[in-house]
Amino acid sequence: MSKCPYHQTTTAGSPIADNQNSLSVDSRGPLLLQDWQLIEKLAHQNRERIPERTVHAKGWGAFGTFKLTKDLSEYTRAKIFNGVGKETKMLARFSTVAGEMGAADAERDVRGFSLKFYTEEGNWDLVGNNTPVFFIRDPLKFPDFIHTQKRHPRTNLRSPTAMWDFWSQSPESLHQVTILMSDRGLPTDVRHMNGYGSHTYSFWNENGERFWVKFHFKTQQGHRHWTNPEGQQKVGESRETTQEDLYYSIENGDYPKWTVQVQIMPELDAEKTSYNPFDLTKVWPHADYPPIEIGVLELNHNPENYFAQIEQAAFSPSNAVPGIGFSPDKVLQARVFSYADAHRYRLGTHYENIPVNRPICPVHHYHKDGQMNIQEHFPNPDAYYEPNSFGGPTQNPDVKEPPLKLNSNIVDRFNHREDEGNNDYIQVTGLFNLFDDGEKSRLFSNIADAMQGVPKEIIERQLVHFSRINPDYETGVRKALHASGHSSYQQQDGHITEQTDGHSE
Ligand code: NDP
Repeated sequence: MSKCPYHQTTTAGSPIADNQNSLSVDSRGPLLLQDWQLIEKLAHQNRERIPERTVHAKGWGAFGTFKLTKDLSEYTRAKIFNGVGKETKMLARFSTVAGEMGAADAERDVRGFSLKFYTEEGNWDLVGNNTPVFFIRDPLKFPDFIHTQKRHPRTNLRSPTAMWDFWSQSPESLHQVTILMSDRGLPTDVRHMNGYGSHTYSFWNENGERFWVKFHFKTQQGHRHWTNPEGQQKVGESRETTQEDLYYSIENGDYPKWTVQVQIMPELDAEKTSYNPFDLTKVWPHADYPPIEIGVLELNHNPENYFAQIEQAAFSPSNAVPGIGFSPDKVLQARVFSYADAHRYRLGTHYENIPVNRPICPVHHYHKDGQMNIQEHFPNPDAYYEPNSFGGPTQNPDVKEPPLKLNSNIVDRFNHREDEGNNDYIQVTGLFNLFDDGEKSRLFSNIADAMQGVPKEIIERQLVHFSRINPDYETGVRKALHASGHSSYQQQDGHITEQTDGHSE
């Protein structure tokens, strides 16, 4: 080991003479309150944890590059998409949704797929998942949904009853539940899965034309999944399988890559599709809007400090850049508020001063003071409000987004079940039909596994939804429940008997 050329100091820079022995009256103690080196050390340790993310707490991340292979100036003025060969530095953070920070990696759960692109016109964040859809289409349901995924207030245990109770009363969840319970619901790691922006966003170009857009990231490593028994075995061997896989593959120079694709929809087509193109529980069928390949994402650099660069990484859909806009998707709009708000709470008001969150372009704003404000001076100290007469930064009308064209000006709490374009079953049938016999069989048994301990009344409610997707879906799950030994679906002497009373946890 080489001798370190630096001497240790306190946080105020004062040299430390002895970091092995605290200050005491006698060699056996007691200690003195004036041992400020000891106090600083203990006080810092007390403050090492920040609030963990309410969702997506367990995460893994790395830095990389996005390389554009197709110019998109026809659709967007966003500089990241203009000029074939352009490379943009980026950060990715992947995660499970429900588990806490110490949760095991190899759990059946949706994986977060968050990307931050450090573009020349500011940070652009895409906060996606490894699935193209989500459990709900109205953000008013989001806190309730997440409560069902977290621990029961009395037992402090995860509650399959709560999950299926919520899902069976929210059939818009069927698409996502089917993906979650299928092979892709338990990827071996993040290199072997796709990412999806999931929401519908918009592109707008120099002519003020708007297009709706969906983003896809197709793994170049191929898909790999674990079955439930394999996942359980992996958790028994290591709780950090995904972290190990990502870290060491990058460390060994085996950089994971994803092919980046977009689906683009002309603005007025949104009124013509049989499905609501802004419904987060829907995909756009590829036959209608074929994916266009536009680039490659490569992760090639591990963080130097996990806490500083991944735990403090703050992704938010509110980080948009000129040429990329939102859409009427209600869940996206809630996230535009909610994600930035979560970071202000977790990290502090000026969380974008933290190096990993800091844009590479100059930043000029008038937000003043507040937690963690490290901006020492304005270019002109008199220009600390706007408008001013002292040469402070001003708005730039050149980057004005074109107006959003909407048909209606009626404000109401619209019942999302009354919109035909929100049909909860049609697209799930398309997905179910993609599965081969083996995939279907694993889907049924994964669902039966996940329903252990759930009262029969709730299961029956869910089975009705499965039957509307395909009668084989209901029959398959029912058979798997019998085979699984669920107490309400017992098999005796080769005969199937079903208990009529519910079975509570
Ligand atoms: P396509 O056959 O054109 O597209 C199928 C898509 O489904 C591909 O992107 C493929 O991803 C993905 N896929 C293939 N096998 C599975 C599987 N076992 N589990 C999950 N996804 C799988 O059909 P459509 O576009 O008409 O979509 C049909 C259904 O496919 C949809 O209802 C949706 O559930 C699912 N799907 C559709 C996507 C879309 O954007 N249209 C995206 C992802 C899923 P890959 O290329 O990586 O194999």
